[in-house]
Amino acid sequence: MYLEISKKDINNELVQKIHEISGQNVFDCYQCGNCSSGCPVVDYMDITPNQVLRLSQYGSIEEILKSETIWVCSTCLQCSTRCPKGIDVAKLMEAFRTVNLRDGVGVVDPDHLEVENKDELPPILLVCAMRKLTG
Ligand code: SF4
Ligand code: SF4
Repeated sequence: MYLEISKKDINNELVQKIHEISGQNVFDCYQCGNCSSGCPVVDYMDITPNQVLRLSQYGSIEEILKSETIWVCSTCLQCSTRCPKGIDVAKLMEAFRTVNLRDGVGVVDPDHLEVENKDELPPILLVCAMRKLTG
């Protein structure tokens, strides 16, 4: 048996914002776990993709925004193609990152990278970071 909960039960501004940005209805998720079982980087996450969906249904968006998971996600789209309910989980992950980036959380500033030998970093790494982490 899974939790009987619906969008009307949640009066949470952040849940609405995530919905607006991603276009995804988290209440469609029935916790089959397909997204997490196919995620290539799930071992590096502190909460799994299906847990992200469950926390979203509970309105616990702050917990997701503080997680490592949304940054570990590589946007490979595996979860989105595996979801039997048609939920684009990768888009949700992006929506959480977007909310943080709009608040200045996680933004990469190339002039202040805290890494040694910055000049030896592959250019593609910097390009990807700029695209993913500048909002
Ligand atoms: S898009 Fe992100 S959450 Fe989904 S399978 Fe890929 S790495 Fe995992
Ligand atoms: S695959 Fe879809 S329905 Fe299954 S747990 Fe993930 S988001 Fe929910």
